[in-house]
Amino acid sequence: MSHASVVADDASDEPAQIMIAGGGFAAVEAALALRALAGERVALTILAPDPVFHCRPAATTEPFGAWRSPSRRYGLRAIASDLGAEYHESRLEAVASRKHLVRTAAGARLPYTSLILATGARSVVGVPGAITFRDQRDVPLIRRLLGELEPEALRSIVFALPATFAWPLPLYELALLTARHARERRLATEVTLVTSEREPLELFGTQASRLVGGLLEQGGVRFRGGAVAAAVQRDRSLALADGETIRADRVVALPELRARRITGVPTRRAGFVPVDASGQVEGLQDVYAAGDVTTFPIKQGGLAAQQADVVAQTVAARLGASIKEVRAPRVLQARLLGGERPLFLRTEFDWGGQPTRATLVHADDADAAKTAKVLGRYLVPYLETLPARA
Ligand SMILES: Cc1cc2nc3c(=O)[nH]c(=O)nc-3n(C[C@H](O)[C@H](O)[C@H](O)COP(=O)(O)OP(=O)(O)OC[C@H]3O[C@@H](n4cnc5c(N)ncnc54)[C@H](O)[C@@H]3O)c2cc1C
Repeated sequence: MSHASVVADDASDEPAQIMIAGGGFAAVEAALALRALAGERVALTILAPDPVFHCRPAATTEPFGAWRSPSRRYGLRAIASDLGAEYHESRLEAVASRKHLVRTAAGARLPYTSLILATGARSVVGVPGAITFRDQRDVPLIRRLLGELEPEALRSIVFALPATFAWPLPLYELALLTARHARERRLATEVTLVTSEREPLELFGTQASRLVGGLLEQGGVRFRGGAVAAAVQRDRSLALADGETIRADRVVALPELRARRITGVPTRRAGFVPVDASGQVEGLQDVYAAGDVTTFPIKQGGLAAQQADVVAQTVAARLGASIKEVRAPRVLQARLLGGERPLFLRTEFDWGGQPTRATLVHADDADAAKTAKVLGRYLVPYLETLPARA
């Protein structure tokens, strides 16, 4: 899509009121991109209940000694102030799109010219009975599991993806890092990864699957593909949807994701919000959405940031800013930790989530090691200038 087709429909002197609901990757990237692209044409407001921006990708490495990296948290108020934005500490509850008003949980009614929904997704249990790893909040559960390996002589730990999942990589990292932890302590614990994928990380394509498969094998992680995890049994084994069981002393699973429903906003399956290629919410004028809240099937920080960039470009162009291009294909880039060196994975999708380009993999590329775990055009350079809160 090109922005030559976007007509500037508001070039008045008054800044447009842009309301951004959320305080995660998509919200912060949208705010940064809008300030960069639209300058003083916009008055920005960030509305989010949690005044902290949590960088969740570090969560998988946190429980593991040498791999441990500190949790990264940034104050939203300070970010808003840097951007000359207002910050409202509350939750978006309802949208009256015809009146261009939002209602917050605190009861305020706030006007907007354009609204950007970046409210993310919430986690629900995906494999009943398993230890569910959502993010930093569940680091103590993994630490406890690691602590149990030796005295309890756990023979078998299974890492399972739920029947529907939006980003499998954290489970691969947890499995690899746990196997490494056991190996370093000369423990005979068997680590198995159970997934409905036919091949390891198959969304990245065949070449990547082969490399990740090799990494799992080298790392001592057994791959059990084409298997849909159903629930953990009383004897702690994992039951599959087809009735088979896999022996386990402990099962760790990722959650399934659901969107948070907001009155006045249309939803599809699991509450996710349908958008077009420019990020505009279906059927609502001047309302956009980006990140995990949308129906885009893969939920990842880098993709959330790219969706936010497209929305910011669309909004800025409508306000008369000169926008050269919208990068239509979504580039999925990821850094997988747990092997001897990080593995760098990359593929492209169209806006509906279908792969469009062959996958490139650099297993041993010096640049890969330097690549941030979340890629955001404006976010990454900006975060590098900020002190992270412990
Ligand atoms: C363990 C783990 C590891 C991951 N690893 C990676 C990785 O390596 N690389 C990567 O790119 N991605 C990774 N991801 C995925 C990435 O974290 C998400 O895709 C990303 O956080 C989505 O960004 P978002 O802004 O859409 O949502 P979020 O980051 O979830 O932010 C949502 C925001 O909305 C706010 N909010 C919620 N409800 C409301 C409301 N009603 N009104 C206003 N605000 C609201 C929340 O407080 C929050 O600030 C990982 C995720 C997990 C869980």
